[in-house]
Amino acid sequence: MSTRVYNFSPGPGTLPYEVLEQAAKDVVNFQDTGMGLIEMSHRSKEFMAVTANAEQLLRELMEIPDNYKVLFLQGGASSQFFMIPMNLLGAGKKATYLNTGVWAKKAIKEAKLFGEINVAYSSEDRKFDRVPTEGEYTVPADSEYLYLVSNNTIYGTQFPTFPTTDKMLVCDMSSDILSRKFDVSKFGLIFAGAQKNMGPAGVTVVIIREDLLERTPAGTPTMLCYKTHADNGSMFNTPPCFSIYVVGEVLKWLKKQGGVAAMEKINKEKAALLYAAIDATPYYRGHAEPASRSLMNISFNLPTPELEVKFIAEATKAGLNGLKGHRSIGGCRASIYNAFPREGVVKLVEFMREFEKNNPA
Ligand SMILES: *Cc1c(COP(=O)(O)O)cnc(C)c1O
Repeated sequence: MSTRVYNFSPGPGTLPYEVLEQAAKDVVNFQDTGMGLIEMSHRSKEFMAVTANAEQLLRELMEIPDNYKVLFLQGGASSQFFMIPMNLLGAGKKATYLNTGVWAKKAIKEAKLFGEINVAYSSEDRKFDRVPTEGEYTVPADSEYLYLVSNNTIYGTQFPTFPTTDKMLVCDMSSDILSRKFDVSKFGLIFAGAQKNMGPAGVTVVIIREDLLERTPAGTPTMLCYKTHADNGSMFNTPPCFSIYVVGEVLKWLKKQGGVAAMEKINKEKAALLYAAIDATPYYRGHAEPASRSLMNISFNLPTPELEVKFIAEATKAGLNGLKGHRSIGGCRASIYNAFPREGVVKLVEFMREFEKNNPA
């Protein structure tokens, strides 16, 4: 294992090593069936158990109430940008969106194809360096839902708490699902692409309140109706078997770590180490306003773009991989998802101190 690097990649992101090892075995020979996991029928009893187990663990870890369905869908988190308004908004209906980054903006663009979209807040003019507090926007009474992106992966901002509006919340949690505790019952729908904090690319988890399954307008294509997948236990067609399996293994690992509350505590510690290093010197500048800081993605700049290039190159040589920031804001970004080890954060902080000493501005 001497060649394994610390992987700060924003997504697909790092996974627990023990999960990778187990998956490597199961791909070749799953539970001594004499068959590899990825060549097995999705309707075999072995694979049905894999899916049921993943769903059960997710329900347990997130304390998902019984009146919610858990779906394993394809098409990436991005397909939810249109599936949500397609299913939940009818002609002439309205919804409110908070524009806190590129992923929110893309969702707004798609939603406008299906209904009247009220953008109640935007931090675009300040390069999305913050999320709003509740006093900063209003949700009109005729909104069907309030849509937000819990954690803005590119900018490193995160809603510290969720809105308390009486409107149904719809939330993109792609980059922070399972990183902290919250009350699922405040949400109509939660979705997350697995590849940031939960598994490999290829599956999107959708958690939807049951009564919403009846809202889909007639004429919606079968594959794009949530009800189709809910009624068929995510097996209407061939599901992304391997991805679902890995999500299940990650959830087992997470449970062993003590569950979401334990994870939240570790995540807070990891992020605090890194923010303390940023705040200790004007050499490093965090992108996010302090009140909006993310526990998952930490975007920061150095004194010059040249120093940033050098920083990323030398960090890579030191085994600290994937620190290049998103092209839209440049600089560096450390993604420290659930599976990212604390030692890696400590190493990065040491590296940052050394780099500053050796490369004065
Ligand atoms: C990565 C990401 C997406 C897009 O996910 P895809 O699965 O690539 O479509 C959407 N929302 C957020 C918050 C993300 O981080």
